[in-house]
This record gives sequence, C-alpha cells and structure tokens, in this order.
Amino acid sequence: MELVVEQSCPSCGAPIVLHEADRLVSCPYCDVNHYMVGGGALRFLLRAGCPAGIGAEDLVYLPFIRFKGCIYQCQGNEVRHAIIDTTRIALRGDRLPISLGLRPQAMQLVQATAAIGGRFVPRQVKLEGIFSQAVRMTALFRPEKTGQVRHRAFIGETVSRVYLPVFEKDDMVVDAVTHREIMRKGSDWDEIAATAVPFRRHWEPKFLSTLCPRCGAPLHGEPDALVLQCRNCETMWEESDGRFSALEWGRVPGASDADLEVPFWKIAVRQDAGSPLLHTFADFLRLTGQPVVIRAEDESRPLSFWVPAFKLQPAAFLQTAHYLTVSQKRIADGEPGPLPAAYPVNLPRREAVEALKSVLAEAALTRKQLFPLLPSLDLQAASATLVYLPFRDAGHDLIERQTSVTIAAATLRFGRRL
Ligand SMILES: [Zn+2]
Ligand SMILES: [Zn+2]
Repeated sequence: MELVVEQSCPSCGAPIVLHEADRLVSCPYCDVNHYMVGGGALRFLLRAGCPAGIGAEDLVYLPFIRFKGCIYQCQGNEVRHAIIDTTRIALRGDRLPISLGLRPQAMQLVQATAAIGGRFVPRQVKLEGIFSQAVRMTALFRPEKTGQVRHRAFIGETVSRVYLPVFEKDDMVVDAVTHREIMRKGSDWDEIAATAVPFRRHWEPKFLSTLCPRCGAPLHGEPDALVLQCRNCETMWEESDGRFSALEWGRVPGASDADLEVPFWKIAVRQDAGSPLLHTFADFLRLTGQPVVIRAEDESRPLSFWVPAFKLQPAAFLQTAHYLTVSQKRIADGEPGPLPAAYPVNLPRREAVEALKSVLAEAALTRKQLFPLLPSLDLQAASATLVYLPFRDAGHDLIERQTSVTIAAATLRFGRRL
C-alpha cells in the first residue's frame, strides 16, 4: 500500500496531496511544477489532534522507519523474492508499540516542516537492523528454506520516516492521534524524551525547477517519474546529487502509433572489474547454460543487461529482464525522438545495476555451476542507456515488437503502486 501525503507547494504554500513515490509536485493553484530531490529519507507525520491544554509545541514525535520494496535472494540453487511493506519503530526497548500497523496507509500523512513545532526523537536503531527484522518476517525465512545465501539485494525500495505524535498527561504518555495511553512516564520515557530535538530545517525536502537545463523549455513527466523529458530538445534528465543531469537515451519506433513505449536500462558491464567471466554475449550464454548454438558474432558482441526501468512484481521483473537479455541480438539500437505514449521511469538506474546479479542468476539454467560464483562476481556498470521499446497492446498482455517478450498489463498496473 502506498502512503498519501500532504505537502505544501514550494512556491505558494498551497496544500498538495501526493502519493509516497511522487517526485513531480504540480501545484493546481499557482501552476508551477517542482521536482522533489531524492536521497535522504523523507519525513512524514501522523496528524495529531491535540486536546485542550496541549499545544503543537508540547508534542513529542516518535520515529518509525517505513520500508517498502522487493528483496531478491539467491539461496541454495534458487532465486527467491518477497515484497516487504512495513513500518517499524526506530527506538530500542519494548515499552512502545513496535509498529504503526495499518495507520500510515489509512490516514493522510503530512510532510514534516519547520512550521510543525514540537520535538523529534532521533532514531536509535540502525537501518540495517530494521531491514533484517523486516526480512525475517517474510516467507524467505521459513525453516524449510535452507541453503547458503549467495546474494541478496533490495530493489525498488522506498525508505521514509513516519513520526507518531505523543504528549504527556498526568503520569502517562498519550498517543496524540488516538488519545490512547501508550506508556507510563518514568525513567524509560525520560530517557527518550531527553533526546528529542526541534525540527532541523535541512530535514525539509529540496526542490528543483522543472525547466530543461539545456533549452529552458518545461520538462514533462508523470508524478512518479524519475526521468523527465524535454520535448523541445529531445533530451532526458534524471536528478542526481541535487541537480538534473542528461541521460543517454534512445527509442525504437513502434510499428503503430498505438504502441506503448516502455523504458529499459540497457547496462553494459564493466570489463576491468573483477568479472573476467562476463565480457561478451557468448560468455553470458555459456555461463547461464542457454540451450543455443554460440556463434562467432556472439564472441565479439559486448554483453548488455536489459533491466526494466519501472517497478514490477519481483517474478515478472526478473523474467522480463531475463528474456530481454537473452534476446538482445534482436533489439535494434534506439535513437532519441518523439515519444507519443511512454510508460514512466520509476526505477532508478542505480537500482537496475543492483539487480544484475539476480537477473543473471534467474537466467541460469546451470545453477550448480553459476551460484557458487555469485558472491565473488563483481558486476559493475560501464554505461547505462535508457531505451524505450515498443510494446503492442494485445488485450491482457503487452508484447514487445522485436522479441515477443510479454508483460501482463495487470502486472504493469500493479507495479506502478509497488
Ligand atoms: Zn503553488
Ligand atoms: Zn530542452
């Protein structure tokens, strides 16, 4: 489930309602677009209802870490995956509620800003600790799942902080949303409350203007797009380190105007890194044991991985990447050009690179040979190009024109909200 967050317009201050993964903030009042810079975890609040005598400045905010994403794990001779969606307390001890349950999904949250007042308790638990706790709650860790874990990656994850407001009343600490007493005041509480600090201005999200850095025309994208397009100079832009940088990109034109252009990261593997096993497409075919005749041209063809540049359910994500990578000889080189109907990029390049080992493992038919090599295999990207491939609409399925790789339309719709 996705969170819904109220954010104020960086230009006019009007309230705008966003989904958790949205980056493009479009203000209906002043008609200005801003792009929210990624990076550090965003901070959201559950809205407090203060009783008489309690002011906003009396509230203490308790930190919870929200983690949503897919985990991929190569264990024994299997590639396993699970979707994780959890919000857990980031404080030590067992006196406080461990999780916010379904509350963050059920309520509209508010983006934390300096105007909020109150004091914020810092996180005491490391993010890794919260991740591994979340992983232990998934089916990946049932006792019958045995075998050495050779590789693990989190892909497409969203990490945010959700704060629960509480206040002190008599000798109790009270949840400011439900007005339920959650713990008795005492030395444990005093210790927690003593660490609380006022909101720091640098915690607020930062915004970029959405004008093309090259030509000044407005950039276009869906609210959850991580890559914005300039239709004037046919460039693509992704935010990194707080500014927009141009992407190398191309499109393979469809056979019909009704085709949907679907984005993929075409990732060339670095040759000098410690992976002498994977230089060419022929190396890939051999290492994964594909049942094909390896030709001379395969020995000289540089290997590229084709990874969806959008979120998909884990099984469909791996399968799509696997089939396209195996079929790469049939995919034409793309060139920049007009994109009439394109699916948004919502999986960043960095995460596509993190998925390479899982894709390789998924593609392997000879797992006994490949899996022991996974821990030492160093797959780094030499380059990543964004390529839009044409998919024809076949009702329940979308079918890629050159390779016939198929994605279920429902999977694509579901992936949007992963
Ligand atoms: Zn505005
Ligand atoms: Zn431009």
